[in-house]
Amino acid sequence: MGTPKISLSNFHVCIIGGGVVGLTGSILLRQQGFKVTVLERDAALHTTGAGIQLHPNAVRVLQDINVYEKIKSKSVIPPSIVLKDYRTGQTLHTQDLLEPAVKYGAPLLTLHRAHLRELLYDEAHAHGVEIRHGIKIDTAGIDLINGEIKLHGSLETLKADLFIGADGAQSVVREALGGRKETAIPHGKIVNRILVEESAIMEIPRLRYLVQGHDINVWLGPECEAVTYGLDGIFNIALTWPWSTDPKDMFFGAQTVDLDDLHLKLGTWEPDVRDLLGLGTDCLRWMFFEPVIDDENMPWVDDLGKFCIVGDAAHRGLPYLGQGAAAGIESVAVLAYLLGKDKNRQHVKDCLNIYQRLRKERTAHVIRATLKTGRLWQMQDGPLKDERDREFLNDTPSVGYPNPLADPFFQSWLWGFDARKAAENAWAAYQYIPEGST
Ligand SMILES: Cc1cc2nc3c(=O)[nH]c(=O)nc-3n(C[C@H](O)[C@H](O)[C@H](O)COP(=O)(O)OP(=O)(O)OC[C@H]3O[C@@H](n4cnc5c(N)ncnc54)[C@H](O)[C@@H]3O)c2cc1C
Repeated sequence: MGTPKISLSNFHVCIIGGGVVGLTGSILLRQQGFKVTVLERDAALHTTGAGIQLHPNAVRVLQDINVYEKIKSKSVIPPSIVLKDYRTGQTLHTQDLLEPAVKYGAPLLTLHRAHLRELLYDEAHAHGVEIRHGIKIDTAGIDLINGEIKLHGSLETLKADLFIGADGAQSVVREALGGRKETAIPHGKIVNRILVEESAIMEIPRLRYLVQGHDINVWLGPECEAVTYGLDGIFNIALTWPWSTDPKDMFFGAQTVDLDDLHLKLGTWEPDVRDLLGLGTDCLRWMFFEPVIDDENMPWVDDLGKFCIVGDAAHRGLPYLGQGAAAGIESVAVLAYLLGKDKNRQHVKDCLNIYQRLRKERTAHVIRATLKTGRLWQMQDGPLKDERDREFLNDTPSVGYPNPLADPFFQSWLWGFDARKAAENAWAAYQYIPEGST
């Protein structure tokens, strides 16, 4: 008797969380023929937020779901990343981004998060994804044994063939899978984010290069850094700054920042950064928490193959390499392509296990590289930093170069990743039966 065929459209995937990763995943899974529902806690689509860099490894996935051209029309394609000394403004290193865009078949983009989410949301709708807003899931409502979810504050119980937790850093699905709430450990840094109209910058001749050059500029300071880039008419400034690690100073979500206060802290910085900050009217700060690199003690998949986690819910990092959302987009793409290979739905649990093995390994490397970048770019003043700057100025990028994104080996590993190929290779290896075996 042959394997019973189950129509993919009858296989219902329910994604908890309609962030960048959940929405991208919903489109990919619809493309593979699944019935897809997204449950989102917020009552409506977020239209606030700041900028995001999308590196070639993420853009490649977006090209696969046909939103690329729309995203590109709302984006800036920076020609270079320019690393500078925080006091003198001296350029330490310029990394060309246009050649890699050709090499990897996808550019590095910068755009407003609201635009990205809106475009993904529209595309998901167009693909027939059901998106339910104002649905908050809590850990107590997650029933791993029966493979169902009781909706918070309602009598409704939702059944699906697979639940994917794309519910971010404070994931309730992660908590249910791990059987415990993760302790948030302060990383000792915050990020202050300011948006300025580009027209205001253009009125100051000395600052015009920031808008006209379209580069990503990074000023490297002691335990801090400033990153700036354009977002199609708006200019994004992110200032990472030291913060207490005392749990009593911990905060979640955004806090308002007094810009005059922040300005004073930049006393010794290059005037361009101070003048730029002077154009801001509002500033919000977010706290950074230590990333968690999971081993086998923290499952990303449940025993029955009904639940799994992706994106920040699984592998939350730090933003020093612009790879958080990119890694999540890669992960959900690998998952969707693997599930799409299992046409008869006989091996869902195995697909989830392959996904977990592939993604735990790669994202652990990405998170470690992110931490290393933070240490290299935010060195204290002193002889080690002077040595780093000598390397920046005199060495050709290679292994160990202080800009990992310019190290050709690391770059090709990071930006050359192809989620579809990774899933295909893993699936072929899974199906491989050595000659002579029965
Ligand atoms: C300052 C900063 C800068 C960054 N810059 C970059 C960058 O340039 N490039 C990059 O690739 N990454 C960047 N990142 C990382 C990136 O923002 C995250 O990795 C990415 O947003 C994670 O996406 P996600 O969809 O997994 O989670 P989230 O974006 O957190 O989305 C989770 C979604 O789930 C919903 N949700 C949560 N709980 C529940 C619940 N219980 N029930 C229902 N819904 C729920 C939330 O409302 C939300 O919509 C940056 C991060 C920070 C902090």
